[in-house]
Amino acid sequence: MKIARYERRPSRTARLKKAAGRLLAGVGLLAAAFGGWYCLTPAPEGFPILEYHMVKDQVPADEYEYAVPVAEFEAQLDYLQAEGYQTITLLDYMKAKKGKFTMPKKPIILTFDDGYDDNYTNLLPLLEQRGMKAVVFMVTNEVGRPGYLTWTQLRDMEQRGIELGSHTANHQPLTTLEPQMREDEVKLSKLLMEWNGLKTIFSFSYPNGAYDGEMPGLLKGNEYLAAVTGEAGLNNMKTDPYLLHRINIPHPHLGLWEFKMRLLKGEVLAKLGWNKHEI
Ligand SMILES: [Zn+2]
Repeated sequence: MKIARYERRPSRTARLKKAAGRLLAGVGLLAAAFGGWYCLTPAPEGFPILEYHMVKDQVPADEYEYAVPVAEFEAQLDYLQAEGYQTITLLDYMKAKKGKFTMPKKPIILTFDDGYDDNYTNLLPLLEQRGMKAVVFMVTNEVGRPGYLTWTQLRDMEQRGIELGSHTANHQPLTTLEPQMREDEVKLSKLLMEWNGLKTIFSFSYPNGAYDGEMPGLLKGNEYLAAVTGEAGLNNMKTDPYLLHRINIPHPHLGLWEFKMRLLKGEVLAKLGWNKHEI
């Protein structure tokens, strides 16, 4: 009978509960499978390079995503040290490839794009307190403008253990530019930094992470040794030095847990072997 059939039908709430139960069981199974896979596969051979912009508490809304508050950044540095990570520079890594530098057991490279003035006022003292190093990529036409580093600050940072690299002259995505303009961005930014009393510039960061097959050759031809992308993963001695992986660290919404998850993302991608820039 029709009515009896309807009476036997579980209520909407009961059906929802059952569906939710199944979903939870499914998620649980997946998590267990992932945990098993993650523990059983050997640790990936490689080290992370982190991508930051600002270390600052008060920023306008349009810069919010790029700024890690000071206390959160300190917690991240302390976590890295507690986990046994030791900071190196890109130049250290390039030297290690030639047998002229011994990599620490757990290396990590901290990078900062654009060249904001808080890298001098906030970041530098926090690194010095912990004996840590970093790489700062400067947009050279911004030097000395409000909110950006000055030449004096850049020279001082270099003396205090920061490696400086180029983030081009005007921060245009290079893939959108004509070949001559591209070359100018790569070449002139490097020369300008060297003419202003900085050491030879060997490292490069692609604006907006945009690159194509021409870029490694162009950088090599202009005497750069290494370049970082915005693509997550870990790096090892086989990684293309002009396509190094970086893990982005934006403004955290879930504290240190989010930071740990971002580090884990790099490891998982390396384990899966996705999009590995190896040569
Ligand atoms: Zn940038």
